Amino acid sequence: MRAIDIATKVNSGEVTAQEIIKQTLNTIKGKNPSLNAFLEIFEEDALKRAKEIDALPQGKKGRLAGVPVAIKDNILYEGHICSCASKMLANYKAPYTATVVKKLLKEGAVIVGRTNMDEFAMGSSNENSAFGPVKNPLDLTRVPGGSSGGSAAAVASGMVPVALGSDTGGSIRQPAAFCGVIGIKPTYGSVSRYGLTAFASSADQIGPITNNIEDNELVLSIISGYDKKDSTSKTCPTKKQTKQNLTVGIPTDFVANLENETALAFKQAVELLKSKGIQIKEVSLPHAKYAAPCYHILTSSEASSNLARFDGLRYGYTAQNTKDLEDTYLKNRTAFGPEVKRRIILGTFSLSSAHAGDFYLQAQKVRELIKQDFQKALKEVETIIMPTTPNGAFKIGEVEDILTLYLADLFTCPANMAGVPALSIPFGKDKNNMPLGLQIYANYFDEDLLYKTAALVEGK
Ligand code: GLN
Repeated sequence: MRAIDIATKVNSGEVTAQEIIKQTLNTIKGKNPSLNAFLEIFEEDALKRAKEIDALPQGKKGRLAGVPVAIKDNILYEGHICSCASKMLANYKAPYTATVVKKLLKEGAVIVGRTNMDEFAMGSSNENSAFGPVKNPLDLTRVPGGSSGGSAAAVASGMVPVALGSDTGGSIRQPAAFCGVIGIKPTYGSVSRYGLTAFASSADQIGPITNNIEDNELVLSIISGYDKKDSTSKTCPTKKQTKQNLTVGIPTDFVANLENETALAFKQAVELLKSKGIQIKEVSLPHAKYAAPCYHILTSSEASSNLARFDGLRYGYTAQNTKDLEDTYLKNRTAFGPEVKRRIILGTFSLSSAHAGDFYLQAQKVRELIKQDFQKALKEVETIIMPTTPNGAFKIGEVEDILTLYLADLFTCPANMAGVPALSIPFGKDKNNMPLGLQIYANYFDEDLLYKTAALVEGK
């Protein structure tokens, strides 16, 4: 059932929140052992919440009354463990609740559990979780994508209608594409990051994963808005007057080397829009091809700084029987997995005084050029389409080469570098019959145009 329908039925009294939540918990218990999408189910808490919602007067239970929501394990919910799928924070209890969760609760949502992810949101396959990989519900031998793979798998398998993810370089959109669901990375600053464990603060955004556009739009409208607790939070400007008829851009230079079924699906999407009378225009994003390397320099640099607090003294795992301060640091920091260590080392190197000029500062300049590309292109068109990923979901253990994994973010990173919003919707299949994603980009705060374009592609 759609989240919107659950809320309507709970508000009218046709069904109780307790019935919905009991059913959801049973479904999760049945499906999760084979998927490993949830790291924890908040059973007792969820049933208590459902009871509270049922006690509220009819019609006043909120826009998400009784809707089961899963949250990625890097989003704080007071009193619950938030481990970032890391041994470093395995027992860390959230001391407060993230703004996004507060907003959901206010609208009657029930948080049913926390979802598995790549450790500290670093990865594209969920194989980097310290608590075992997540399986793709459409083929258990394949990855669900990452880093919000648990959230995408939880929605795709029908365990929950809504899950929150976080996206620093594609972590909502790529798993959404691999699992055949819908995911959005909102405009930077439009959704509060207060209570999201930082990976790279200049790129992180929280967003919803759902299985239909209407639910996605509703949840986004609830979680977005200015928050004084997040210094990069922005007030969404009132809607600009937009043209009645959309013009959709094709970044011809950026998508020139598409292969196999991805090329075919993209061509079909373009033809479909044309057949609906949508004007298609070629645009150029000359620097977008540098977004992935630029992203990895900048986000690793920020991560090396953000993750310094996990030293076992301020936060995180504390080793026993250490000799002295250096030994303490050395042993405490071993709680990080290999990918997190790699990024901290890469980031520390990029920021070091001897190399910052070659890497960090250069990457900042490239980021500016990427931003300008989008501003120029989005003067000519309302939205831009491109594939979400170069390929569909691969087998667990299949991709060992780190650079290949990094380049899988080729089409998603530009949105985080430019700060613009982007949405992934299922479109087409790969040679293994796994879903592919079509990605839609728009200008800052033009999320409504993303949904409008998505609805056109879906034939609504
Ligand atoms: N896959 C990307 C990475 O490994 C994106 C991660 C993210 O968006 N959190 O960095």
